[in-house]
Amino acid sequence: EVNAPVQPLIRLNDDQQRAVDHFRGPLMIVAGPGTGKTRTITHKIAGLIESGSDIERMLAVTFTNKAAIEMKERLSALLGKTCSLPFVGTFHALGYRILSRYMADTPLTVVDEDSRKALVRDVLALNGLSQKSGEIRVDELMAWIVSAKQKMLSSEDSLDGVCPSDRLPSFVRCYDTYEQLLGVNHLADFEDLIFRTVHLLEKDKAIRDLYVNRFRQMFIDEYQDINAGQYRLIRLLAGDQATICIIGDPDQAIYGFRGSDPACFKWFADDFPESRTLFLNRNYRSTQTILDVSAQVIKPNPVSTETGSRRSVHSGIKGDRTIQVMALATENAEAVAIGKTIEKMVGGTGFFSLDSGAVDGTLDQRPLSFSDFAVLFRTHGQGEIISGFLEKAGIPCQVINRRAVLDHPGVKSALSIFKLWHGMGIFSDLQAAVGMFKPAVSKKALEIFKSWAYRKKLSLAEALIQTRRLPIPHMGRTRQQQLYDFCGQLLAFQQRIDGQPVTETFELISKATGLKEQYPGDPVFEKGYHYLLEMGSAHQTDSVGFLASVALSGDTDVYDHRVEKVALTTIHAAKGLEFPVVFIAGCEDECIPYRSTARPADMEEERRLFYVAVTRAKNHLFLTRAESRRVNGRKQSRQLSPFVKEIENRYKRFSGQHVKKTETSAQEQLSLF
Ligand code: ATP
Ligand code: MG
Repeated sequence: EVNAPVQPLIRLNDDQQRAVDHFRGPLMIVAGPGTGKTRTITHKIAGLIESGSDIERMLAVTFTNKAAIEMKERLSALLGKTCSLPFVGTFHALGYRILSRYMADTPLTVVDEDSRKALVRDVLALNGLSQKSGEIRVDELMAWIVSAKQKMLSSEDSLDGVCPSDRLPSFVRCYDTYEQLLGVNHLADFEDLIFRTVHLLEKDKAIRDLYVNRFRQMFIDEYQDINAGQYRLIRLLAGDQATICIIGDPDQAIYGFRGSDPACFKWFADDFPESRTLFLNRNYRSTQTILDVSAQVIKPNPVSTETGSRRSVHSGIKGDRTIQVMALATENAEAVAIGKTIEKMVGGTGFFSLDSGAVDGTLDQRPLSFSDFAVLFRTHGQGEIISGFLEKAGIPCQVINRRAVLDHPGVKSALSIFKLWHGMGIFSDLQAAVGMFKPAVSKKALEIFKSWAYRKKLSLAEALIQTRRLPIPHMGRTRQQQLYDFCGQLLAFQQRIDGQPVTETFELISKATGLKEQYPGDPVFEKGYHYLLEMGSAHQTDSVGFLASVALSGDTDVYDHRVEKVALTTIHAAKGLEFPVVFIAGCEDECIPYRSTARPADMEEERRLFYVAVTRAKNHLFLTRAESRRVNGRKQSRQLSPFVKEIENRYKRFSGQHVKKTETSAQEQLSLF
């Protein structure tokens, strides 16, 4: 039933071609960064489609939505625009698709991080554990719930070990309340998209069989970051006969904090003993120097038996014989130095970038532009400092940070109103939106309303309808009237926007609230609002799908590689990406690795993270650091990262500039270089 691909679509090397030609039975492709794993898998899928395989039977899982979009774009480019494509998406998008199809009569809303926080706060209050008592903090409870769900444990299972044992009874109660609130409001959280899907498939044989028969060819990129729940999901979907192909690099596993597990290659090897393993040894991304440096970085980490010894990867790309290590006095000076270096390199001669299509080390030489640069760092806070300085110096940059785009109060209100108008809001949305309309409803009234609804186990939408049949106890007449009027307004809008395109609804929101006038010329608001419109237009009238996409979006989704801007990103979000020139900022002990840690497993993950950072670079790599840095308002002196120390000196070129005053303007500091 599975056809062999007729011919390769473009040139691949022999190892890559072998991976494409393997078309029956489980396959594991293990290879280092830049060896063309993602490219090979994309060609494999394209080849199968070209040879007539049924796209309905294919499933490709990527690590981010952005990667999914890119894979689909590449498939379209290879196959022609009009060709229909198989399901390509993240585990969460897949879970959402299955769940919303088979579980809920009412559309399922995915709670985003902020709404979840608000819910957790309410959960603590409902259990008499107000924040003041300090017994359990909001972030603690969130973390425990996440951890329980990642381990596939419900509130009825034994939750030993998920939280400190003295907190266990309170946690069990809170987890239970939390689940009730989700249920009443038809919500699923991020973890539920895996957790509940696995349960559904395990419990319901008919639905399971349906999917097992449907997805006969499965492809999973960035496999090293899979967690136990996600593995269980693909294991269920694979059944006994699927052609399943996993692609990954154990040395690039950097999502341990989300439950990814180095044992994942062993799970696969145990469950699919007949699987073949293929290796790719040629790197098409980085210069040999960058590869040599990266090999030194990762060397101390152990290798797993399932994936075999670490293979040396070679590159035909020639370039600088060294990488540059820059020491600056402060974090501000570091930012300035990065800016100054970019300014010097952009448009200049002598620096060349490699075209992604180049084979066998032939260089496509062209001057560098801003989009060829990326600045990588450990935490978003560092990114804010650097982007501030770059912008002051007139260097266009884009910060790859979803929060920075969607956290604006105006953007949040717009989104809350959108949810309320579609009957998919929760109480925190009501609180965010109520100030935008007249007459204002008092906070106190909202609190009473919320407690009443929680007691009655009503969703917000149901509770709003009930306001017509007041009275709500403990609420004065005027307050009731205000609430009633407000609810009337909401319901009126709900009717007006029925079946309307998402973007038009946002325009109506803006008109009804004067939202845009409230933030004239505010670039953060504009960026966020524009993002909503862009996402909205991709979903047309599908408001449920739109909300799911927004809730499931991650940092990389706000990255646009087509714009002429320097990319500023955490190392985590740079996974899978590549840039001709890469700066890794904050190469200091306590930052890379982040906080010294006694646990070897954490240290290994930190090392992998640095390895991922180094291997994003194609041609030029700069490692920058500050000798003193402000941390939580206090100045700290900082040592060079031990990982950088380990790199042999023959690969390193040192430079640095001490800037005396930290308060000098960006322009003045730039002139120091
Ligand atoms: P990572 O581990 O970082 O995800 P990867 O193994 O997925 O990397 P790709 O991103 O697929 O690697 O490829 C790296 C670069 O090498 C890309 O620019 C890709 O176009 C190029 N490349 C891959 N294979 C070939 C080839 N056979 N010929 C020319 N270029 C190639
Ligand atoms: Mg890849």
